[in-house]
Amino acid sequence: MSPPENRISPLKNPVTSLWGVGAERAAQLARLEIASIEDLLLHRPRRYEDRRHFKKISELTRTAPGTARGTIVALGLNRFRGGKSVFEIVLDDGSARLHCRWWNLPFMQNYFSNGDEVFVFGRLSQIKPRTMDHPESEVIESGEEGFIHINRIAPVYPLTEGLPQRWLRGFIWRTLEKFETQIVEPKPAPDLKFFPTRANAVRMVHFPGEMPDTDTARRRLALDEFVELQSQMQSRRKRFEASARALPCGGDNRMMKPFLAALGFKLTESQTRVLRETRADLGGAHPMRRLLQGDVGSGKTVVAACTALMAIESGFNVALMAPTEILAEQHFRNFKKWFEPLGIKIELQTGSTKTALGNAAHDPSPTIFVGTHALFTEGFRLPNLGLVIIDEQHKFGVAQREQLVRKGNYPHLLVMTATPIPRTLGLTLYGDLDVAVIDKMPLGRGKIKTFVRATDKLPKVLEFIREKISTGRQAYVIYPRVEDTGEVKAVTAEFENLRKVFAPFRVGLLHGRMKGTEKEAVMAEFRGNKIQVLLSTSLVEVGLDVSNATVMLIESPEQFGLAQLHQLRGRIGRGAHESHCILISDAKNPEARERLKILEETTDGFKIAEADLKLRGPGELLGREQSGLPKFRFGDLITDMDLIRQARQLVQAATESPRGQT
Ligand code: ADP
Ligand code: MG
Repeated sequence: MSPPENRISPLKNPVTSLWGVGAERAAQLARLEIASIEDLLLHRPRRYEDRRHFKKISELTRTAPGTARGTIVALGLNRFRGGKSVFEIVLDDGSARLHCRWWNLPFMQNYFSNGDEVFVFGRLSQIKPRTMDHPESEVIESGEEGFIHINRIAPVYPLTEGLPQRWLRGFIWRTLEKFETQIVEPKPAPDLKFFPTRANAVRMVHFPGEMPDTDTARRRLALDEFVELQSQMQSRRKRFEASARALPCGGDNRMMKPFLAALGFKLTESQTRVLRETRADLGGAHPMRRLLQGDVGSGKTVVAACTALMAIESGFNVALMAPTEILAEQHFRNFKKWFEPLGIKIELQTGSTKTALGNAAHDPSPTIFVGTHALFTEGFRLPNLGLVIIDEQHKFGVAQREQLVRKGNYPHLLVMTATPIPRTLGLTLYGDLDVAVIDKMPLGRGKIKTFVRATDKLPKVLEFIREKISTGRQAYVIYPRVEDTGEVKAVTAEFENLRKVFAPFRVGLLHGRMKGTEKEAVMAEFRGNKIQVLLSTSLVEVGLDVSNATVMLIESPEQFGLAQLHQLRGRIGRGAHESHCILISDAKNPEARERLKILEETTDGFKIAEADLKLRGPGELLGREQSGLPKFRFGDLITDMDLIRQARQLVQAATESPRGQT
């Protein structure tokens, strides 16, 4: 017997192969991202309606939505002057009458006739007479398929224009009847003592016997999604390990020793432990694939430098990629200071800066290439590459990461992030990476105190900042992102204002619409304390390191995510002085205030990330651009931690004890 996975499943066929799907229906289904039969069978209901027990019209309330059923006893369309209209039907179920109204949707009259039986779902907008505005509705047609829609728990699907609920429900029913037996158990599959079969789960998710079935079914289908993702990651990793031999990059300490001696501080225990792990990786059989996680300010750059030295000592070049030009320049300067005395060359490549890269290919001296993604654009060669380091990984997608590593002959890879991702989520997103964590901050850091203040306190806050500057410190003033020219005007006006407020101290301006060289000039002045106050957009969010800056004022903080605010705040508190972060917000809504309070209460990035995850979901936490985040139909990265764990165990068990060839 041939194993099932060698046959292409009929579920992979397009929906257009099914009877009744012409071009128009196909286009509608495509808008719902339904292309294959499988997509259709996994189209998840938005909610369920228990049509075995509906309410009497007389029992409907204004508070909770409910389903009722009645016969149309009157209907009509009223047109008003100015093109407005209202279409109304009156339902009677013997207990009372219900008026249902649709405003400015005159075509609704095409869907109803006197005497029709109708389901409506909604809440009353008024009691006398009983009225629902814009209820969800469905005409009950008798006929052979009537049982699909009534006297059961009926699924209510997400729709798109022109696609009737009733048609889709019938279509899914018929397709399920025909293909249910083709829904096979995936490999690996969970223990059926604890889960329904996949085929059962698919049926239950559409046509549950009882309400709790819908959750049982969802969990099974979610588990399958997680298993599939884990399997993909595992096999990607296996393929990679089978095909890629590691370059020997363990190093011999001849540069590391003088580097550490000149550094001016001792590495923390966390940093040393991580370096032991990366050294083992760099000397291992497979190229390193490692994620380095450490809160803002925990000292990831120095770890990157030490790792780079190991590769360089071993005779290879290194590439370091940062998400912004400013950050690339900062790394460039740091590495120049650290590495040039050791005879290592530093090259910078950003969108606006290009050093003589053509020469690099012919130059035998060890080199570290620092830059933005411009480092990896076509036509630019990175010769003899042993190690690639990506800073602030969350700013790049997985695809970019892959593209970059393919540049070389399987170089080692170290990706660094300050976004402390809860462990299970990390396993899902970065399952193909080993994780190392810097979990302790360097000693001797001043505390950061955070306050939320209303706008009317702004003059006092500015006075406070002025005081701090007078004692020699520096400050950031942060505005939400500048995207269009209107906003540039706003931030420029604010700049003029702050200049007056802080004179004779100097204020600098930094935003994304400025040229790379302009930005760099402003940063240089700020670093050199020629500028005392830096007015900036969230551009400074990542990586900047000016330890004399101890005050940060953030305007409209409710426009940022918590994790992002934490990153911003991480620009201060880098020296021995006490630091202050003031969030100026007039947010009235209690949720927004609650969110900001979390920042007052803790500087623990992990706690903040978890709160952010709960409040805004993983997409926001990891950045909009994060393309590595898969889309789940049934799985939920926040509430399904237990399923993610089970999926991992299943996949691991399956790969560790292969059940032989089928
Ligand atoms: P991040 O992890 O946010 O990238 P950085 O690498 O920029 O943090 O480090 C923040 C600051 O801490 C830098 O000024 C760096 O020189 C300093 N630093 C790093 N490691 C130590 C240490 N072991 N002891 C003291 N200061 C350190
Ligand atoms: Mg950093």
